[in-house]
Amino acid sequence: MDFTAKFTQLQQYFSHNKTRDLAWRKQQLQQIKRLVVDNESAFLSALATDLGKPAQEAWMTETSYVASDVDHTCKRLHRWAKKRSVSTPLVAQPGRSYIQPEPQGTVLIIGAWNYPLQLILAPLVAVIAAGNCALVKPSELAPTTSALLAKLIPQYLDKNAVSVVEGGADETTALLALPFDHIMYTGNGQVARIVMAAAAKHLTPVTLELGGKSPVYVDDSADLNITAQRIAWGKWMNAGQTCIAPDYILCSKRLVTPLTTALKAQIINMFGQEPKQSKSYGRIVNQRHTKRISDYLADQDIAVGGEFDLENRYIAPTIVINPARDSSLMSEEIFGPILPIIAIEDFAQAKAFVTMRDKPLAAYIFSKNKHQCQAWVHDVRAGNQGINDVIMFNAVPELPFGGVGPSGIGQYSGQAGFDNFSHLKSVLARPFIKDLPIRFAPYGKIKFKILRWLR
Ligand code: NAD
Repeated sequence: MDFTAKFTQLQQYFSHNKTRDLAWRKQQLQQIKRLVVDNESAFLSALATDLGKPAQEAWMTETSYVASDVDHTCKRLHRWAKKRSVSTPLVAQPGRSYIQPEPQGTVLIIGAWNYPLQLILAPLVAVIAAGNCALVKPSELAPTTSALLAKLIPQYLDKNAVSVVEGGADETTALLALPFDHIMYTGNGQVARIVMAAAAKHLTPVTLELGGKSPVYVDDSADLNITAQRIAWGKWMNAGQTCIAPDYILCSKRLVTPLTTALKAQIINMFGQEPKQSKSYGRIVNQRHTKRISDYLADQDIAVGGEFDLENRYIAPTIVINPARDSSLMSEEIFGPILPIIAIEDFAQAKAFVTMRDKPLAAYIFSKNKHQCQAWVHDVRAGNQGINDVIMFNAVPELPFGGVGPSGIGQYSGQAGFDNFSHLKSVLARPFIKDLPIRFAPYGKIKFKILRWLR
């Protein structure tokens, strides 16, 4: 398996400077929008096949998400791509200093299966906006969406600038051997280490969008119905297979029962008495993951749900009370529809619980206490945070999205994405006006004194 020819062709095209042209970039971005809009029903059907995604959910989080991203980017592209002036200190005067964003070259985008369209096309929007060529590798675990992307991308986008490779670990390994100018990987932390090790061979910069256990603290002061509705939506969307879904809840002992009751009422509101029959509830990506998630339920105190069906990749929206802290449910990212609720003493203990563990991709708080919310933002290190809501920060295009530490490296979305896939080149331009001799040898006491004074 050798993708050298494909890669070399992209590199050569990049060297012709076509992709730097802003009009070309805008036209390609519009083509990405056309690709999702013209083929919306095919994508919704592919996402239903791969993940049982309800159409409205797929539209909100995949097709329309990408179309809005294109609109947002096209409106601001000229501004982002312009040189950015900075002040020039006295020692470099007369002179003009600026930052010139420039494309990096050819970017490899490796997608994950849980949002198989968005996780390829949203990075591609940023990569093209920044003036690069791209090779995209959709996840083999969402094969229908992967095949559709592989068919449509060459029909809509400049084939010389954007290429698709389908496949799994073998194909990705072969791609990782090539000297890309940037690698963007979305997925789990284990493979991220393989990606980073391969990138190190060529000193290629990486963006790693990973996961982790995103906690939610619910304070006694929170409005329980609104809290439960927002958490239920974020947790059970895509059957819990969302990197920024609430992984577990921390709350006081007295809140455990009313919060469980409120969440159960929301499950019934959203998915009815039998979620398995609901058209609004998705499926687990495959039987292996269904088994992995359902195994977490052994010996747990299940308050709601708990039913599963391996063959049909179904796991009910489930709430587990006070799982053992060292159980696999509490040590691994759940990435499925099980929501543990853990009783803690107070807010300080909730913070300690979270900060003792890996820095998560998202950390949420529900509270009417402003000081507490501020302390949560100040004291808890996480990729992103939500106060009194989950996931919705991802709908704000100018909020950079990304993890920290084990939950990821680098950010994208809006200008952060443009900057991430650009090299921000520093330029100082000076006229031919004779300099004061102080910076040149031979050095001496007086020159040294003046230099110190100028500083
Ligand atoms: P996955 O199985 O689709 O793998 C991701 C990519 O890695 C695929 O393209 C796959 O082909 C490739 N891959 C798999 N094994 C490989 C190997 N040995 N060598 C090279 N490449 C290999 O997805 P996943 O890893 O199961 O994704 C789930 C994880 O991703 C969760 O942890 C989730 O939180 C995280 N995630 C993060 C984000 C984010 O934006 N931060 C978004 C979605 C998912």
